[in-house]
Amino acid sequence: MYVSPPKDAGPSNRIFPCTACGACCRNLSHSPLYASLDRGDGICRHFDTGTNLCRIYEIRPKICRVTEMFEAFEDRLTWEEYVDLNWQSCRELRARTHTSESGVNRKE
Ligand code: SF4
Ligand code: SF4
Repeated sequence: MYVSPPKDAGPSNRIFPCTACGACCRNLSHSPLYASLDRGDGICRHFDTGTNLCRIYEIRPKICRVTEMFEAFEDRLTWEEYVDLNWQSCRELRARTHTSESGVNRKE
């Protein structure tokens, strides 16, 4: 799963390299923004722990959409800086939960 840059991202065509690892959807408790999605243990109530995918992907809320959320940061960050910061968060979440890029739990 790859997220395209916004239409006005400038000369960069860099895409957000989401690997669908699921680490973000399993760690909602790190941000109050996602409180309404948290089923109580930090995992999103729309997350399918069997397939590791979002059950409402096509209609997921805006806060789950990397490209759309860029508009909240574009006065401070370039698209590339925004991608880098998001990717850094993904890596930290995966490290914290011992999850690989493919979503496999390294402890299992
Ligand atoms: S943690 Fe990052 S790479 Fe993994 S599913 Fe979420 S956005 Fe994609
Ligand atoms: S709605 Fe979907 S993309 Fe958003 S946190 Fe839940 S499972 Fe993840």
